[in-house]
Amino acid sequence: MKTTSSTQPAKSTRSRPKGPWLNRMVIWVLTLALGILTYLLEGFFIRDIESIKGPDWQSIETNRVDVALRDRSKELNVEIGNLGRRITRLQEEQRILSDGSRNLQDTIVQLVELQKLSLQKELPLSENDQQNLANTLNQFLETQTSFQTFNQNLHDQAEQKRLAEDEKQALDAQINELLIPAREEYSELVRKHRMWLATLELCLLVPLLVLAGFLVIRRNQSVYFPVFLAFGVATLIKAFWVVNKYFPAQYVKYILILTLLAGVGKVLVHAIGIVAFPGKNWLQKQYREAYERFLCPICEYPIRTGPRRFLYWTRRTVHKTIPHSGDSEAEQTYSCPSCGTWLFEECSSCHHVRHSLLTHCSSCGEEKKNDPAD
Ligand SMILES: [Zn+2]
Ligand SMILES: [Zn+2]
Repeated sequence: MKTTSSTQPAKSTRSRPKGPWLNRMVIWVLTLALGILTYLLEGFFIRDIESIKGPDWQSIETNRVDVALRDRSKELNVEIGNLGRRITRLQEEQRILSDGSRNLQDTIVQLVELQKLSLQKELPLSENDQQNLANTLNQFLETQTSFQTFNQNLHDQAEQKRLAEDEKQALDAQINELLIPAREEYSELVRKHRMWLATLELCLLVPLLVLAGFLVIRRNQSVYFPVFLAFGVATLIKAFWVVNKYFPAQYVKYILILTLLAGVGKVLVHAIGIVAFPGKNWLQKQYREAYERFLCPICEYPIRTGPRRFLYWTRRTVHKTIPHSGDSEAEQTYSCPSCGTWLFEECSSCHHVRHSLLTHCSSCGEEKKNDPAD
């Protein structure tokens, strides 16, 4: 940076030095990091709030439904299971028994055939065969008897199971009836608990949001503006998530759209304000850019002075038209032939030619006092 010479008064420039780009980039990266950390920290607080214990379904259920009923229901469940297993086992045994009885039946049929044959041939059936037939017949009858017993047993068990199932069904219906108000009570308690959590979280976030909003809007010229902005944006996003989580979607929609409307409205008003009532800095920026392109800052007519006197250019082609170098003429004062604005004039301090619309003289650095933009 150039040091100002001692002969000149201290400049009253309001523009601050921007600093090296690396420094500026580091500031922006750190601002982003600050925003993320703020967001995380607020997230931790919110998670702590959310860890507050809600209503307990188990205790409500115990209150509403008699323990005896639930115990009986469990007992019946076990009983039905046992009966089912016993019935399966009986059916299995019955199947084996019926296979055996079929075998006996076959044997009897064969023996009877044998007897028939021997009767036809008028030969007496051997002692052994007769004994066999009698034994087999006896066995068959025994099997049939035990088959009957099995059947009776199976029937009894099935009847027991059916009774148990009927009882359980009735009991479950009764328990369900009792659980309906319990469920209503529980969901009401859950709703109240969520409202409480939302209130606590908003109690944390809203003051932070108000503080951030105040800082961002009122201190937007402060050097610490990026810090305020990071803080504000992080808190705003967090608050939006909290609202989104606890309130029905239709309200969130309105909150979001109103916030966006306020934000866009503010930016728009600011932009219109800049165009309609340009501030000194903004105007200087426009003038500077126009002078760089050798165009009148007021009407954009080309500034044809010095070596550019016989050239033609527009805003876009200005850098392609290279004036002849070498024929350097003495600089002259110049006013725009189109709108009559003075663009180059004599400096009141050093009497060289200076830009009329820029703040400082390029020869002596003297600041122009009665700026037309003021
Ligand atoms: Zn002009
Ligand atoms: Zn000067």
